[in-house]
Amino acid sequence: MGKEQKISVVVPVFNEIEVIDVCHERLTSVMAGIEGYTYELIFIDDGSTDRTHERLLEIQAGDPHLKVVKFSRNFGHQVAVTAGVDEADGDAIVVIDADLQDPPEVIPGMVAKWQEGFDVVYGVRKRRVGEGRMKRWTAAVFYRLLRVFTNIEIPVDVGDFRLISARAANYLRQLRENDRFVRGLVSWVGFRQVGLPYERDSRLAGETKYPLRKMMKFAVDGITSFSNMPLKLASWLGYLASFLAFAYLVSVFVQRAMGQTVEGWATIMVAMLFLGGVQLICIGIIGEYIGRIFNETKSRPLYVIESIHPAGADDRSGLDNGER
Ligand code: UDP
Ligand code: MG
Repeated sequence: MGKEQKISVVVPVFNEIEVIDVCHERLTSVMAGIEGYTYELIFIDDGSTDRTHERLLEIQAGDPHLKVVKFSRNFGHQVAVTAGVDEADGDAIVVIDADLQDPPEVIPGMVAKWQEGFDVVYGVRKRRVGEGRMKRWTAAVFYRLLRVFTNIEIPVDVGDFRLISARAANYLRQLRENDRFVRGLVSWVGFRQVGLPYERDSRLAGETKYPLRKMMKFAVDGITSFSNMPLKLASWLGYLASFLAFAYLVSVFVQRAMGQTVEGWATIMVAMLFLGGVQLICIGIIGEYIGRIFNETKSRPLYVIESIHPAGADDRSGLDNGER
């Protein structure tokens, strides 16, 4: 064999001071244990406001495998993952959360699958320990909705914990859309993809960085990035409403012919409110898409990098980490 192959591990971090040390330790012990490969750990600091970045630089001083990229502000998890893939130059890239909900111990299994010839190995959540019933339930509904709505095969119960081969990553890097749903983009790329079941732990410490608002946006991004179905749904609703209105019209005529007139203030109100509601919903759906078209036309870069502290080569000890 020629040159030793390299595995890049991408870790998006946002205010993870409580977990960052344990995360680094566990990743290191797993990665150092995979024989025949070198590795790099790329931490994307997504605009942390606690000591996360300082701590990362301290850890880096003692570990030449670390590369630390800092965003100028918080750009969001999906964008941080994107930047990590952009910065990675390994033969395989692993994306993993910092909070150790996705156990690093699963990575060797992913590498083994990759060696078998798979380009994408995605973790499939068997069980979600320590996540509230609400979160599990909304996640289940979301993944099923996504399956019904989208025309590409996005696996169910899969997060961003996955291994991507260099050639799949090359295509992934070309997808620069703004409102990103990375796991869908990875599915879109194709090649041979396979799931690897694992148990999702609860967060090691700290709290979720995905409040309901971010979750909602994420869910809507997932559906609108891969499906025009909601737009069609809007017109179906329109047809349905017109049909109901027509049926009612007929009944009004009949009543009139039988001599029963005026009456029905309530019916008029109900019909009006119903139609008003349907129209607003449809305008809202169209708005979601127009908003995304608007974002695309601005063609802004996805993120702004404040600094990059590259990994030191093995013979340097990270002392000469310059800003780029
Ligand atoms: N994260 C990020 N930017 C954000 C929110 C989250 O980089 O704006 C990171 C976070 O530090 C963690 C990962 O994304 O490593 C997943 O976030 P979290 O665990 O809070 O999400 P959950 O598991 O609750 O869905
Ligand atoms: Mg988490």
